[in-house]
Amino acid sequence: MENNTKFSDLGISKEILQAVEEMGYTQPSPIQEQAIPYILEGHDVIGQAQTGTGKTAAFAIPIIDLVDADFHKPQAIILCPTRELAVQVEGEFQKLAKHHRKISSVAIYGGESIDKQIRILRKGVQIVVGTPGRVQDHIDRGTLKLDDAGIIVLDEADEMLDMGFRDDIEAILQEMPEERQTVFFSATMAKPIMDLTRKYQNEPHIIKIAKKELTVDRIEQIYYEVKPTLKMELMVRLMTVNNYNLSVVFCNTKRMTDEVTESLGSRGILAEALHGDLSQAQRDKVMGKFRKGLCTVLVATDVAARGIDVDNVEAVFNFDLPLDEEYYVHRIGRTGRAGKSGVAINFVTGRRDMQKIKDLERFTKASITRMDPPSVTELIDMKKRQLVKDVHRTLAKDEDNQIFEETLGQLLTEGLTPEQVALGLIKMTMGEAVQELRDQDFSLPSYQDRRRERGERSERGGRFERGSRDGGRRGERGERGERREGGRERRGGARTTEANMTRLFLNLGKKDRIRPNDIVGAIAGEAGIPGKSIGGIDIYENFSFVDVPKKDADHVIRTMKHNTIKGKTVNMEISKG
Ligand code: AMP
Repeated sequence: MENNTKFSDLGISKEILQAVEEMGYTQPSPIQEQAIPYILEGHDVIGQAQTGTGKTAAFAIPIIDLVDADFHKPQAIILCPTRELAVQVEGEFQKLAKHHRKISSVAIYGGESIDKQIRILRKGVQIVVGTPGRVQDHIDRGTLKLDDAGIIVLDEADEMLDMGFRDDIEAILQEMPEERQTVFFSATMAKPIMDLTRKYQNEPHIIKIAKKELTVDRIEQIYYEVKPTLKMELMVRLMTVNNYNLSVVFCNTKRMTDEVTESLGSRGILAEALHGDLSQAQRDKVMGKFRKGLCTVLVATDVAARGIDVDNVEAVFNFDLPLDEEYYVHRIGRTGRAGKSGVAINFVTGRRDMQKIKDLERFTKASITRMDPPSVTELIDMKKRQLVKDVHRTLAKDEDNQIFEETLGQLLTEGLTPEQVALGLIKMTMGEAVQELRDQDFSLPSYQDRRRERGERSERGGRFERGSRDGGRRGERGERGERREGGRERRGGARTTEANMTRLFLNLGKKDRIRPNDIVGAIAGEAGIPGKSIGGIDIYENFSFVDVPKKDADHVIRTMKHNTIKGKTVNMEISKG
């Protein structure tokens, strides 16, 4: 169905039209086109639409036009399942109401000082967005009165019911005036939702957004066939080649998010885990870092998916394919937002995954294209370009070059030509990485290979091969440990330290909740050595070991001496073992 409706056809104010234009929305999305006129006319509405469809603006736009800007009491209440969503929704209200100067809104949710929220509510806001528990809390305290609230929206109603908010929601609905407008948005229309609408809505107008229109139009969907043990390597390779600013990696379990986060960290990629076990404050912190680009990769479970609302996520990796097709749509909808394009990258490690890809194609009514892993040539080209950039940057630095020039002079007097010197240095810089790339083979192995690999893996007790830093080839032979806490430690941790590396003892361990990327970050940041040059890390209960280049060992020990990691004072020394 060709859709030519414009925002100006929907009967909304010129202030909103201006705001919408400034936000870069050129055309109403299907849910907006269908819901806005009904809500403006005062009807009850059920919108079956998921995140990514523009559902927030579908209710926010008419609400802003419906409230009386000169009357400073709560007139509209929006209930959301999570704090993140409440904050996002309230943010959207603020942007859309930018030119309605007298309209204000507030987000109220648990985990934030209630006094601050009370102060804002006292000032007189027209629009209140909140989580059911905290909204009920304000009602109980008498700090929020709904006597004048003419409209209520239940956003992600199915999610709120799943989270056990039914009693709170019903109590809030009962606080509202009888003569009110009740709007439900929900991804699914399961029985509990329908029961609620029958009880609290009045001849609702039902709008269903067909699945095809849900999310995926602007998202390129691709998959790679890869050995299970090399998923990590392939993902890192794709991140490196494409140089994504921000990406999200989805895993099926919290444990896996931790493993992937640590594994990325050990490869010098700034990653943070986001899952249901984190406190609200921790989640906010992680999201804050991601928004600011202080970490470039979020590693999340499905529970956290809906809270990830950042407009410039360029890629979503399904490290594990989701267990449920609806989850897939939620996951990949983290990219391709706000009119931008994005890519959803899936890893297929066997026949069952391949079947899932087919199911997902049917579900999203879009094709998921098979791709070949970036070739070694592409990667080497990328490394060449990087080297050229690095050389230019280094030479452009205005600093005293005397020692370096003397060294060059010495090399030339040794009978080397300038080309030979340059070639030798380039090989020293790129040689190891190039060799590692040549040795990697991502293709799915035959059945026999797989059996053999499984045997080897269980002997090693590890999940991932070590990264490009110490070479997939060694990992395949199982000589090296991983940069994470593994079963190996308990069996004595026989990690070999390379000849050009020194093993340092660190007085902090699991009890201090440090992770490999904390150690890499601290050493790289404080001692000013590249994160990439740091070798294997083993974290034990009370202490850890880290391999650093031999030449940097003393410097690292000295600079780390009065420093802290996670608030704990660091003590490092050369490992005696
Ligand atoms: P939502 O489904 O409300 O979470 O919205 C998903 C994303 O779509 C958000 O990033 C919005 O900023 C964006 N968006 C909402 N409406 C439109 C529109 N009409 N045109 C383009 N982007 C939109």
